[in-house]
This record gives sequence, structure tokens and C-alpha cells, in this order.
Amino acid sequence: MKILLNNQTLSKTLAPFNDIGFVPTMGGIHKGHISLINRSIKSNKKTIVSIFVNPKQFNNLKDFKSYPSCIKKDLIILKRIKKLDYVYIPKFKDIYQNNKKSNIKIEKKYKILCAKFRKGHFEGVLDVMNRLTKLIKPKNIFMGKKDFQQLFLIKNFIEKRFHTNVIGCKTIRNRNKLALSSRNFLLTKKELKDVEKISKTFLNLKNKIKNTNNINRFLQKSKRDLEKFFNIKIEYLENRNIKNLTISNKYKGSKVFLSYYYKNIRLIDNF
Ligand code: AMP
Repeated sequence: MKILLNNQTLSKTLAPFNDIGFVPTMGGIHKGHISLINRSIKSNKKTIVSIFVNPKQFNNLKDFKSYPSCIKKDLIILKRIKKLDYVYIPKFKDIYQNNKKSNIKIEKKYKILCAKFRKGHFEGVLDVMNRLTKLIKPKNIFMGKKDFQQLFLIKNFIEKRFHTNVIGCKTIRNRNKLALSSRNFLLTKKELKDVEKISKTFLNLKNKIKNTNNINRFLQKSKRDLEKFFNIKIEYLENRNIKNLTISNKYKGSKVFLSYYYKNIRLIDNF
């Protein structure tokens, strides 16, 4: 595994290859990231992982500063993946140097879910993905369905502009079914147990909504119940069509999306 620390080495190293699989991350590497990397290794001749905590996608400075990324630890984990070729760890200037301000906008119809609660977040995400894709020129980008709205917006954006496929990969969960997330590293053992209970209750909604007529009305009531029972603040609990993200009361072809604050930590999930 070769570590690439700037754009010059990146371009030089990748120049001979046209079958590159790319896994963008913000570090805090866990088994969710590793599953994306393994997917890429299976489908591409070369695989590159990036670690870049993109300040432009944080709408909250405190959240940015406390983001749990530790390069040293991450590299130890990544080195164990025998067939991983490259790790790209750019500096801010590598990504944003001699580049005009971005004018990327999210369509109004998509200012829902996380876009509604994290102003400017996806504009920052699309901007950095645009820049990373220009630099790396991957054939495939592998992203998690855990961040479904992110995957949806990036797929729409990137596949229109580049000869690159954006491939959604399944959510990896721990043995208690909690979706893995770098933000879980911010939790104590006891807090992790609490969050696992919330996650279990959330996933149990799946059976409950199967035969419900008005799913979203049911979810609104569940939202209030969950907030009260677990003493959490839920931003959204909504059933939406997976093709266009509009509100849906059908079980088929939809997903239930959840975002909540446990103490100060924002967690998301979907099924
Ligand atoms: P992040 O480092 O949180 O920006 O995530 C980098 C990539 O890993 C994104 O495509 C995420 O959707 C994906 N990812 C994060 N958590 C998981 C998970 N539990 N299972 C699968 N993919 C994940």
C-alpha cells in the first residue's frame, strides 16, 4: 500500500491506469469502509482510498473539530488489507488550490432529509467529490447506502459529468445491528448500548409498517414515542421513494430514513 500525500505524486502514480476503484472517506476507518474497499478490489485493477475531512461540508465548526479521524490508526487498519494499492491523504490546499469558488447547488426538491437540517452540507460534499473525481479519474466510486441521500445526490451529479460509475454498497452493522459509523467512536460503552437500543427499535419498525396504510402518519407517531422513550431529538423519520426521494406511503420501493441527536452526536440510518 502506497501513501500519496499530494497531487503531484497522485497524478504521477495513477497516470498509467484506467481501471481505478475509488473509496472516498473522512477517516475513522471501520468495517463499513473496509467492505467498500473489498468491493472495489474485486471489481477494479487498482483501488485507492482517500482520507480527507472536508471542512466545507460541515455546517457546524464544533462538529468538524470533534470529527473522529486518526490517520495513524487508520493507516494501521488499511495496511492490513493486502490488495489495497493506494491511500491518498491530501492537504486542504491539494483539494482547493487554484480553484474558483464552487457554484454547485442542490435542487430545491432535494432540500429534504439531511439537506434540510445541514445547510450547505451536500453542496460541500458535491464540490469535494467533483474535485476528487477530476483528480483521480476513477472508473468506479464505491459508497455506502447508509448515507443514502449522499449516494443518491453524488450518483446523479458524478455520472452526468464523468465516465465514472457510482456504486451503492450495503450498510454494515455491528453484531447488535447498529450501523457502523465513525461517529460511533465518540460514544462511551454505555452510550453505545443506548444507541444500539434505539437502532433496534428503529429496525423493528420495518415489520410494523409492512401492513400499515398511512406509513408516514404511523412514523410521525413513532417519532414522538421514540423521542419520549429514549430522550432524543429526532430530525426526521420518513418513508421515501428510493428513485426520487419523494414522500411515499408504499412499503415497496421505499426506505425509511432516520436522523437523530443522541446527546450532541448526530446519527443517521435507513432500512
Ligand atoms: P465517511 O468516512 O463517513 O464519509 O464514509 C465514507 C464512505 O463509507 C461513505 O460512502 C459512507 O456511506 C460509507 N459508510 C459509512 N458507514 C458505512 C457502513 N456502516 N456500511 C457501509 N458503508 C458505510
